[in-house]
Amino acid sequence: MSEKSKIEWTDATWNPVRGCSKVSPGCKHCYAETFAERFRGVAGHPFERGFDLRLVPSKLHDPFKWTSSKIVFVNSMSDLFHERVPDEYIMSVARIMAAANWHTYQVLTKRSERLASMLSGILRPFAAMHHIWWGVSVEDRKYGLPRVCHLRASPAAVKFLSIEPLLEDLGKVDLRGMGWVIVGGESGPGARSIEPEWVENLLMRCRELGVPFFFKQWGGVQKRRFGRMLHNRTYDEMPSLLRAEIPDSATRRRTASLLELPFAVMEDFGSRPLVKLAMVG
Ligand code: SF4
Repeated sequence: MSEKSKIEWTDATWNPVRGCSKVSPGCKHCYAETFAERFRGVAGHPFERGFDLRLVPSKLHDPFKWTSSKIVFVNSMSDLFHERVPDEYIMSVARIMAAANWHTYQVLTKRSERLASMLSGILRPFAAMHHIWWGVSVEDRKYGLPRVCHLRASPAAVKFLSIEPLLEDLGKVDLRGMGWVIVGGESGPGARSIEPEWVENLLMRCRELGVPFFFKQWGGVQKRRFGRMLHNRTYDEMPSLLRAEIPDSATRRRTASLLELPFAVMEDFGSRPLVKLAMVG
C-alpha cells in the first residue's frame, strides 16, 4: 500500500493482490510488471517474487488503518479480476470497501467479462454503492471497446474508463452510461505515440454527454517533457465525491474486527494455481 500515490487521479493505492499476466496490447509495457520484476529475488521485498500473482491477505485491513479518508486505486499493481483470484477473495475486498465507506475506491480491470458477471451476481450489493467506482481499461478498438460494452451492461452505479495507453483513434466510441473518462498516452522506454486528434475526439464525446474528462498525460519516453496540458490548461474533472466522516481509530478497529473474512493469512502461493484456499469459519 502506498498512502500517497504519484498517479494524478488518485490519492493512494491499495494492493491486496500483487502480480498479474498480460491480456492485450495495453499490457505491453506494463509499469507494474517493470517495477515488480526489478525486485525479483530480493528477500523480504513485497515483490521478491517479481510479477507472479499473489494474494496478500495481510493487506486486506489497510483501509481501516489510514487516518484520513482517501481516494483509493485498488490493485494498482495487479488486476483484481484476474482469473486466478478466487471469487471469495474478491468478495472479501468488496466487503472491506463497503465497510470502510469513508474512502472512495477506484477498481480498474481489463477482465471486464468477469467484472460484469460478478457485478450482476455475488457483487450485486456492492455495485450500487456510490463510493465504489468500477472501471475498465481501454487502449484500442479491438480489445478496449468490448470492455466498454461489458461495463455498460453491468449494474455498477459509478462506471469509469481509463483510456491509457491510448493507442489509436477510438472513433465513435459510445460513452453512454459512463461516469468518468481518464485519457493518457503511454510513457517510459518504448512508449507508443499518441495523436492529439485521438484525444480531441474523446474530449468531444465526453462533452456531448456531460461525462467528466481527466487528461492524465501525453506520455512519451520522457513524459515530463510533454506534460498534461491540452488547450493550454489541464483537465482534472472527476465524478462528485461522497466524503463520509472518518470514524475514530477505536471504531475503525471494531468495525474491522466484526468483518469475518473467509481467509486465513496465506501469502505464499508460489506458482501453484490459486484455487484451493484455506477457509476459516
Ligand atoms: S492487466 Fe494491467 S496489471 Fe495486468 S499485465 Fe496488463 S497492464 Fe499490467
